[in-house]
Amino acid sequence: MERASVSRSEESETTVRSLLERFSQTQFREWRQERRYRQNIKNGQPYFNGPSTVPEPERHSPSQLLQCHRKLVYRQENAPEEQSDPDGIFWFGSRFEEDLLFPFLEEAVTDSTTYIQNSIWIDHTIQTDTGKLRIKGSTDPVIVDSEAVPVLPTEVKTKDSIDHISEPNAHHRAQLHAYLRGLSEKFDKELSDGVLVYGSRESLDLKVFHVSFDEDFWSDVVVKWAETHTEYRINNKLPPDKPEYDWECRFCNYRERCGKGNTAYSHSSPQGLLPGIASYPREKVVEYLDAHPDETLTPSLAEQYPELAESYPVSSWYCGSCNSEIHPDEVDPSGEPLCPKCAQVEQLSVLFLRQSNRNPSRKVQSEGSK
Ligand code: SF4
Ligand SMILES: [Zn+2]
Repeated sequence: MERASVSRSEESETTVRSLLERFSQTQFREWRQERRYRQNIKNGQPYFNGPSTVPEPERHSPSQLLQCHRKLVYRQENAPEEQSDPDGIFWFGSRFEEDLLFPFLEEAVTDSTTYIQNSIWIDHTIQTDTGKLRIKGSTDPVIVDSEAVPVLPTEVKTKDSIDHISEPNAHHRAQLHAYLRGLSEKFDKELSDGVLVYGSRESLDLKVFHVSFDEDFWSDVVVKWAETHTEYRINNKLPPDKPEYDWECRFCNYRERCGKGNTAYSHSSPQGLLPGIASYPREKVVEYLDAHPDETLTPSLAEQYPELAESYPVSSWYCGSCNSEIHPDEVDPSGEPLCPKCAQVEQLSVLFLRQSNRNPSRKVQSEGSK
């Protein structure tokens, strides 16, 4: 009797222990990643699971109009991102749209003659001095008539708080203008009204702005911007580090690469993980190396993520003057990487990166390093 109860309590202890082992941050993160992967396949969007393809220079997406040219070039060329995605913000945005805004439009805004369509694909061509440009992408919910012809497109954004919003942001107006142009072309109907909706993540309140199509804003600001961006891409030129709005730098994923961060890097090309920077999020390192088989893990990242060093080629700092491999701790990432051994004999030798495991004869790219 006694023995049975002991073994029962041992048993339940084992059960609790194994439950607690699975009830963890890592398990949750992995479960979420796996779930997203499966959902993308289920939704017929397996391409979201791999690295993005580099878009043609003439192609623009409505949601990227008027953004910092440099940031966009980094993103389009798949430069490694320096921060994790704000998954919670994305998640809230789609939940807000699907669970609140969509039912609101359906139940309280449309009447017996109007309907809601989740989104409509647009592919709009513009003839410019730079050649033909294309704006491709899908809209947010569109109010349509009984023939499913658009009446009033919307663009929905969520923000922490909407208290201080007194007018729509230019990027969002540009996005809505692109929808209006694209839908007018697609449905052969002059559409000139749209709605920008800001939802608060804090209070779940809304602010709604009626946007009328403004020909001058469209051609002088939006189309001009798109032409300039296409030119940067065609000429393979890194755009200046001057966004239209300074706040963009605060949220930018490429601050170090660009020169607005805390290291000595600036105006770096989109290629390569920046040597000396160990703060890249793990998933971004994996994403980058999977998409760029010729690239290597930098010495600092190999230190930071030792388990990745077992799966990916690693580069290390090497001094050509004294023929030594230098440990990353001995290299100061805030300036030019100098050899500490040569420094002891008062000689200045700049270190370079070379692959230190697997196929050591392969030349290692160290673009992005100074
Ligand atoms: S840090 Fe600022 S200027 Fe540099 S790429 Fe980002 S947004 Fe553009
Ligand atoms: Zn040396």
